[in-house]
Amino acid sequence: MVEDGYKERGLRNKLVAKLRQKGIQDERVLAALNKVPRHAFFDNALLSHAYEDKAFPIGQGQTISQPYTVAFQSEKLEIRPGDRVLEIGTGSGYQACILLELGAVVYTIEYNQVLFERTREFLPMMGYKPYFFLGDGSKGLPQKAPFQKIIVTAGAPIVPAALTDQLADDGILIIPVGDRDKQRMVRIRKKGGKLTQESYDNFAFVPLLGEKGWQ
Ligand code: SAH
Repeated sequence: MVEDGYKERGLRNKLVAKLRQKGIQDERVLAALNKVPRHAFFDNALLSHAYEDKAFPIGQGQTISQPYTVAFQSEKLEIRPGDRVLEIGTGSGYQACILLELGAVVYTIEYNQVLFERTREFLPMMGYKPYFFLGDGSKGLPQKAPFQKIIVTAGAPIVPAALTDQLADDGILIIPVGDRDKQRMVRIRKKGGKLTQESYDNFAFVPLLGEKGWQ
């Protein structure tokens, strides 16, 4: 276990204040970011960067998302305790921890075997227990559907139909859609079988791979 002392807690408080300034309003989301020790996801040599509002490399050419992005997507999901949430792109596991702090039951799927194995071992050691899956999340996770919420944490070329299909009624999907290096954040709501869509600002995610992702 990593130490989580006075200094780290102070840095987290500052980060949360910055997220509030940037427009994050949901107090439960801010409290979750204030609780999860983001520095535990960093190599020793990079520790000083853990509480900057920046994405960071986690190996295998992948990144731990920027705290603002994690907060933004989490807020837009309107998580209620007990919601079954599918996360596509486990990566470091940081976003999954935030969802768990919000009271969700989390199913997380990762395409990269090295990251899958690493995070599946690491998260439970910190006390966080999502259900881990290895595979192509661009097809969703049909065997565990439906989900109240689905979050895609890699940039997609299109909204895969499998994901809206696997959404429960009254469900929400949040997904960055666009080209390889820049995407618009899109939120899709399902109500009475009908889909409505809202778009937000641009973000820059690593590409979603797999059948409905980038080649
Ligand atoms: N949520 C992560 C962010 C990870 S970056 C975190 O909190 O750290 C995006 C991740 O999506 C990478 O780990 C990448 O390997 C994974 N990914 C890319 N395409 C995927 C796919 N089709 N299915 C599942 N995971 C995918």
